[in-house]
Amino acid sequence: MMYRTGIAYDLHRTTPDRALRLGGVQIESPFGLLGHSDADVVLHALCDAILGAAAAGDIGDLFPNTDAQWAGADSRIFVREALKRASERGLRVSNVDVVIHAQRPKLGPHKRTIRDSVAEILGIPADAVGIKATTNEGLDAIGRGEAIACWATVLLMKDA
Ligand code: MG
Repeated sequence: MMYRTGIAYDLHRTTPDRALRLGGVQIESPFGLLGHSDADVVLHALCDAILGAAAAGDIGDLFPNTDAQWAGADSRIFVREALKRASERGLRVSNVDVVIHAQRPKLGPHKRTIRDSVAEILGIPADAVGIKATTNEGLDAIGRGEAIACWATVLLMKDA
């Protein structure tokens, strides 16, 4: 068995005008995230972590935010394409781990739903998906609620 790890980070500004989507789940919130697509910061980090592990570029290479066809796009499309690129290299996801940095809304009650959604999108069992949420203790832009960020790591495996 051969393994490849990937890591990624993403951040989006908050805005009152949009729905908040995290990991493919719409979360009740007085604000959403600003971005060219649906701005799902969790799926963007996962997409980039998968692409990184497969050495297949990054989300900006595949889906430029200058391309009108991705305006408002469902970020699940991006993750599916990253999985396809990995699969073309003989790689499939073993597990993922995610840290969401958000001062609000409180994500504790949503972690299981996000985990199940991510597992479904990736086609892996829920027990291969780690979803953790942390505030920024009121510090900097995330702590002031001006942005939400996400880190993701992924392990891809190849049956040699
Ligand atoms: Mg992004």
